[in-house]
Amino acid sequence: MLKVPVVASNRINTPEIAEDILAKGDADLVSMARPLLADADFVNKAAAAKPESINTCIACNQACLDHAFSLERVSCLVNPRACHETELVYLRTQRKKRIAVVGAGMAGLSCATVAAERGHDVTLFEASSQIGGQFVMAAAVPGKEESRKTIRYFTHEIKRTGVKIELSHRATKEELDAGFDEIVIATGVKPRVPNIAGVTHPKVLTYAQVLQHRAPVGQKVAIIGAGGIGVDMCEFLLHEPDISLDAWLDEWGVDLTSSVAGGLREPEHRAPRRELWLLQRKPAGKRMGTGPGRTTGWVHKRVLERSNVHMMGDVEYVRIDDEGLHIRHEDAPHVLAVDNVILCAGQESVRDLFAADERGRPTDPRFHVIGGADVATELDAKRAIKQGAELAARL
Ligand SMILES: Cc1cc2nc3c(=O)[nH]c(=O)nc-3n(C[C@H](O)[C@H](O)[C@H](O)COP(=O)(O)OP(=O)(O)OC[C@H]3O[C@@H](n4cnc5c(N)ncnc54)[C@H](O)[C@@H]3O)c2cc1C
Ligand code: SF4
Repeated sequence: MLKVPVVASNRINTPEIAEDILAKGDADLVSMARPLLADADFVNKAAAAKPESINTCIACNQACLDHAFSLERVSCLVNPRACHETELVYLRTQRKKRIAVVGAGMAGLSCATVAAERGHDVTLFEASSQIGGQFVMAAAVPGKEESRKTIRYFTHEIKRTGVKIELSHRATKEELDAGFDEIVIATGVKPRVPNIAGVTHPKVLTYAQVLQHRAPVGQKVAIIGAGGIGVDMCEFLLHEPDISLDAWLDEWGVDLTSSVAGGLREPEHRAPRRELWLLQRKPAGKRMGTGPGRTTGWVHKRVLERSNVHMMGDVEYVRIDDEGLHIRHEDAPHVLAVDNVILCAGQESVRDLFAADERGRPTDPRFHVIGGADVATELDAKRAIKQGAELAARL
């Protein structure tokens, strides 16, 4: 029995987890860092028995540890005010405006809820039947399940701030033109379909068909595009669904018996669930297969290497047919005899609701474009949420 107080730390991101540790007597104190960047009011909200109102840390590391290791100012993906409290200020508006926000992805949700909190009359249009946009797909990826907590938080914020939400409602130019003082275009992105012969073959799927609509996927799969979504696709196709804690500990060689130095034992090797090819046009650099995160990339790389994913750069895509994917690699033709080809080849902004000048800016000053609709980069909820909040603070 230890005679000194024990403090538990790491991934204690909800009051329930903290309470459970203390109630079981596993530790005397809990320590939190990232959850307080995500929500500085965490403790007050827990004390007021309102856990659903907490903006939960989702363990992405994108604006905290990734920034710290790049010598950038630390902040938080889900809370852009973190470490910017005196610069990003949400003042009550002096002139209430009618604001339309189109798209309930991360950009639109952030903008709509901050604008409504400031006292504006906000209507949020969403074409699908749920909020979250691309983040709904992110939540399907093993390791990113906590993205659901951000969607839960915004669901709560919509109610709290009084945003009028119109689900299953595709906004049109005509209705936006009539009756709104400001119009925020947060219509996001759609998957880019590359120009490859045979791209309409039935074995070809987009990442959205797999992650959102759960299209069945075969045993041998080629993934076109090795950016963040291509890496996520590998994780999705390789992982056992609902893996048990014991199986996960075996897979990573984590020892809970305190009998091995460093708490690490030899990981258990299991045959991968599928044979995957992860392909890109550009040369395969050191970071291929890591995704964009500085502090999280090594984990993805480890999973891919352990699962014998064939990672190939400098690939020229020739055609797709019944035989599979025909490519040229290192000056020689190859056929990858795969059951499916999944397109993770980037994204295109959805910008069909406004007239733009030659630089792509809306000609009508009432229109503002944010998030993926502004710039279609792959994994950038951090920019989407920040841009939405910053715009809402100015409107
Ligand atoms: C698998 C996957 C994993 C990801 N992982 C991460 C990650 O780890 N970190 C990260 O930072 N980012 C990640 N992202 C990206 C992140 O989700 C997006 O960058 C971010 O959601 C962009 O947000 P957005 O609001 O601009 O657009 P979107 O999420 O695309 O949302 C746009 C919304 O607008 C709606 N819409 C479009 N047109 C209309 C219309 N006319 N009327 C009404 N509604 C309309 C759409 O239905 C959609 O809901 C991931 C994305 C995917 C697909
Ligand atoms: S950036 Fe991500 S990991 Fe860091 S505190 Fe925010 S939600 Fe948590």
